[in-house]
Amino acid sequence: LVPLSEHDPVMFDLIEREKNRQWRGLELIASENFTSKAVIDCLGSALTNKYAEGLPGARYYGGNDVVDKIEVLCQERALKAYGLDPEKWGVNVQPYSGSPANFAVYTGLLKPHDRIMGLDLPSGGHLTHGFYTYSKKEGTRKAVSATSVYFESLPYRVHPESGLVDHDQLQRDAGLFKPALIVCGGSAYSRDWDYKRFREIADENGSLLMMDMAHISGLVATGEQASPFEYCDVVTTTTHKSLRGPRAGMIFFRKDERGFETKINQAVFPALQGGPHEHQIAGVATQLLEVMSPEFKIYSQQVKKNAHALSEKLVSLGHTVASGGTDNHLILWDLKPAKVTGSKFEKLCDACNITLNKNCVPGDRSAITPGGVRIGAPALTTRKFLEADFEKVGSLLDRALKLAQKIQEKSGPKLKDFVAALEGNEEVNALKKDVN
Ligand code: PLP
Repeated sequence: LVPLSEHDPVMFDLIEREKNRQWRGLELIASENFTSKAVIDCLGSALTNKYAEGLPGARYYGGNDVVDKIEVLCQERALKAYGLDPEKWGVNVQPYSGSPANFAVYTGLLKPHDRIMGLDLPSGGHLTHGFYTYSKKEGTRKAVSATSVYFESLPYRVHPESGLVDHDQLQRDAGLFKPALIVCGGSAYSRDWDYKRFREIADENGSLLMMDMAHISGLVATGEQASPFEYCDVVTTTTHKSLRGPRAGMIFFRKDERGFETKINQAVFPALQGGPHEHQIAGVATQLLEVMSPEFKIYSQQVKKNAHALSEKLVSLGHTVASGGTDNHLILWDLKPAKVTGSKFEKLCDACNITLNKNCVPGDRSAITPGGVRIGAPALTTRKFLEADFEKVGSLLDRALKLAQKIQEKSGPKLKDFVAALEGNEEVNALKKDVN
């Protein structure tokens, strides 16, 4: 019963410093959020002590009466939050996070080296959707994520000019590649998904269709983005982004004669994972209760309004936003016209307590030197920021970019020299003061 502050003051202090960092600055990472005290209470509960391999009612350990109720509650709330009929859809709430959720789908429903098509990483997809790096010099291709090591992946892309998914090219490529699975969803795509079109392409080729709605799952639950459930066979998600829960993952699957329920449940355990993290599952369950409240609907609407307000502000200041705007919680800001790389801008923002991340933007040649940054509204909207606040954020970001250009003029093109030039720079310190 000794509190952390007494048991391990070093760790206590580090956590306090991180808490302070998160709340002091402008948190604009599109995949992050501030989860509630209720969720944190679940994460820090006695549930972390329990082993519960198996599923509710069929465990490999004793003492799971309460844990079974918690996991069933989570399953029920997950189906309800997305308006799903439990006769037609099931859900596995045990994935430790988004990446294992995706891999469990691939290993459960496909054979090794089956073909997958997902959105390319530089186009806004996620590593787990299959990604290779290419060496032109050596004429080689290297699989980067387990998806492309254990399966054959041919990514599809966004159109370099419109920044929108190039469905026509996907359709042509899928016709030749004949993927077993098409994945929609991404980590840096600011528009909604045309599930009907994806379904048509999947049907033409006998492919399964999976949506990874990790980024937008809070917006989908509140009807602020289209629902993938009408068209997809499987839907995966993380629970800690726009859904604002603890770090975890979920897999929704259709219940029909194809037997996905057994295949996916077995892929999660025993194939990929061991004991489920029931403290996370309790946190997801309690977050799903919040997700179904009228307040969360208002929150999701505000997330979209804020992202839109920031996008408009940046455009009004003469900046370039990929695809010309946003339909969801994030913006991809193309910094190429300003001749500043995403890496440099991220470093400068970090120095001013503005947290965002470098990101590829449509037309980038390499994922190694991203030409822009990704900016998200979920976290600051949790902190009750409204459109006017996001417009101010836009002005601060504009100031930051001009400062980056000025510093780069002196420091030259190398990132190392640019970072060194940030140290002790008076204008950087002044911007940091205004951010705080
Ligand atoms: N899928 C998408 C679309 C993501 O954006 C992410 C993470 O950013 C993941 C999956 C992986 O989630 P995790 O980091 O929880 O493994």
